[in-house]
Amino acid sequence: PPEVPDSKGLLGRLFTRNEDRMVVRRTLDDDMLEQLEELLIASDMGVDTALRVTSNIAEGRFGRKLSTQEIKQLLAQEVARVMDPVAKPMPIYPKRPQVVLVVGVNGSGKTTTIGKLASQFKAAGKKVVIAAGDTFRAAAVEQLQVWGDRAGVPVLTAPEGSDPASLAFDALTKAQNEGADLLMIDTAGRLQNRADLMEELAKIVRVIRKVDDTAPHNTLLVLDATTGQNALSQVETFRNLADVSGLVMTKLDGTAKGGVLVALADKFGLPIHAIGVGEQIDDLAPFDPEEFAAALTG
Ligand code: GDP
Repeated sequence: PPEVPDSKGLLGRLFTRNEDRMVVRRTLDDDMLEQLEELLIASDMGVDTALRVTSNIAEGRFGRKLSTQEIKQLLAQEVARVMDPVAKPMPIYPKRPQVVLVVGVNGSGKTTTIGKLASQFKAAGKKVVIAAGDTFRAAAVEQLQVWGDRAGVPVLTAPEGSDPASLAFDALTKAQNEGADLLMIDTAGRLQNRADLMEELAKIVRVIRKVDDTAPHNTLLVLDATTGQNALSQVETFRNLADVSGLVMTKLDGTAKGGVLVALADKFGLPIHAIGVGEQIDDLAPFDPEEFAAALTG
């Protein structure tokens, strides 16, 4: 299993090892709340969310003496309460093929996530097709082909520099003709020129709607959890570029403190469909709020 650098979680930094072991009780006073707030902010939870979580914990308990264990439980409860509503697997519609547009900045884990999802859906008996829509990066197309091979799923490609919308159109037509259940469309993730990217995504949507006017059925935004607060601005950006319907948070196996997930849930309420927990094909897990809250609080 991956090494967790701070296995004691957030509260490991608030209580000394001895206090933790002895289950000392500390008074929930302003000083304690401030320390708690600082910890939550340092975990990438963001100021607003951190303040709300601490104030919920203090509600009706100010001045009381609480044990380490009680504070951990309260914090875990608060985190789980924020996360519960967003823990939803990607919805599956009766529509065949269901079209899943995958967006996100380069390096966020789009390719890997598409490969993992393809493998899961295939294992569930679905016929899956992938379209390599980032036609500007030859390396991205190659990488996606590697993942397609691993998952045993065909990857449709187009020559470098060709129009991604036209590839998406062909892919959907083919997926329809072949009776596929699911078409996943990879997209470019270079934010250097947002206007271009916006136009490109809009064109893909426009063009696939000529084949199926209900497509895309899901627009997944892939976010790298290790980018911390950056993930928040990526959601803002991509919501302006596309009609994001859900999130996949990658790299939660590493050193990511994960607090940003709480901030994301609190701020946007977008469903978290899955989390990436490693680089292998099976390293994609459903998002479990209780498990996440327990891991975060330690
Ligand atoms: P893309 O540019 O968005 O398509 O990103 P890639 O799928 O190529 O991923 C970028 C890097 O992140 C690669 O080295 C992946 O192996 C790695 N990666 C993706 N998802 C995860 C994950 O959940 N955990 C870890 N540890 N690494 C991941």
